[in-house]
Amino acid sequence: MMDIQFVRENPELMREVARQKGIDVDIARLLDTDVTRRETLQQREKLRQQRNQVSKAIAQLAQSGQTNGPEAARLKDQVRTVNAELAEVEHRWLAAQQEYDALMLLVPNIVSPDTPIGASDADNVELRRVGDLPQFSFDPLDHVALGERLEILDIVRGVKVAGSRGYFLKGGGLHLHRAVQQLAIDLLNERGFTVMDVPVMVREEALSHTGFFPLGADETYQLPADDLYLVGTAEAPLVSYFSREIVDVSRPIRVAGVSNCFRREAGSAGRDVRGLYRVHQFAKVEQVVICEHDIGVAKNLLSEITQNAEDLLQALELPYRVMAVCTGDMSQKNYQQFDIETWMPSRNSYGETHSSSLLLDFQARRANTRYRDKDGQLQYCFTLNNTAVASPRILIPLLEVHQRRDGSVGIPTALQRYIHGVTELKPR
Ligand code: AMP
Repeated sequence: MMDIQFVRENPELMREVARQKGIDVDIARLLDTDVTRRETLQQREKLRQQRNQVSKAIAQLAQSGQTNGPEAARLKDQVRTVNAELAEVEHRWLAAQQEYDALMLLVPNIVSPDTPIGASDADNVELRRVGDLPQFSFDPLDHVALGERLEILDIVRGVKVAGSRGYFLKGGGLHLHRAVQQLAIDLLNERGFTVMDVPVMVREEALSHTGFFPLGADETYQLPADDLYLVGTAEAPLVSYFSREIVDVSRPIRVAGVSNCFRREAGSAGRDVRGLYRVHQFAKVEQVVICEHDIGVAKNLLSEITQNAEDLLQALELPYRVMAVCTGDMSQKNYQQFDIETWMPSRNSYGETHSSSLLLDFQARRANTRYRDKDGQLQYCFTLNNTAVASPRILIPLLEVHQRRDGSVGIPTALQRYIHGVTELKPR
């Protein structure tokens, strides 16, 4: 949620950001409803005061036994008129307030001055590449062929049981899936994060607090019988954990959530249907940081959580690049975003595996998460998040980059301790 004062002072900027992010929100209408709701609120207060005064006068008359005189009749008439006006003003206030609330939920966050302007991911800007691309002296297989050959992946039965984008991970596939998550948990634990198992079924407010609702609601699975929703990321429960609270950010709050994630992928129909790249259900270890309202502190933390993900990819011995995400590829809630893309031989390109974002106070305003600054004033916090690891998508580069001519796949040293010292997966 943006600060309405900022929107009032910068309507042109807000229109431009909405245009750049492809969000349809009528800023002029928002400002009109803002005026109406404030004017009607004032009128309501005035009318309430008037009614109180007249009611007092009627009570005084009653005390002196003049309940049925002409003055009492005049005053009662006045109360009826004020009540009618009050009902009309309250109706107008409620309509304006509801429209205002709905429009405010559509207003995008501003973007950082160094965010590239662009329409889609094709306009994202590469910041750096790390690691050498693998050179194969044989025809490399894709992760689906490798997974089937190693008997660690079953997509045919996945689709039979769960529909499109369904999959089973078996044996070594499951071990790898859990090993990458445990590696991420241990890395974040060592770096001061409190790691949590989070609810994956949440109330609607957990999603609107965090900017996933109302825009993006069509990406979310609903459980209407229980008025709950399945989360697409642990970011939602983790940020909502602090909703309506005054928190201590004298040291940034670093938390990580381990969860399954559920996404309808409604906007991606027909895209990336082969294999494990875009599935409806996956697991993720997610970093969330909550800090004071200070852009310098927040920028350092953005680098920190991005580095955590880079260190994990280096431990997995995978080549990757870091991209500055452009306006058109950014969600409503983000102020600045870096994506990390890992080399995926079967795509002959880097594919997104991590997304690191700074949101300023956009989520904290919605969730009402505040702290006391040095002067004792309440301020909204800043929030940040980044993937630590998301699997099974990360299994694509893991299997494909580390494959060998004989069909076996080497396990990076950092992962071996999580799978009983196994150093490779071999076809039977
Ligand atoms: P996001 O929370 O949208 O920034 O996504 C974070 C990471 O989750 C992505 O970089 C992917 O690694 C992974 N991810 C997102 N959506 C999917 C999906 N539909 N299937 C598999 N992995 C996904």
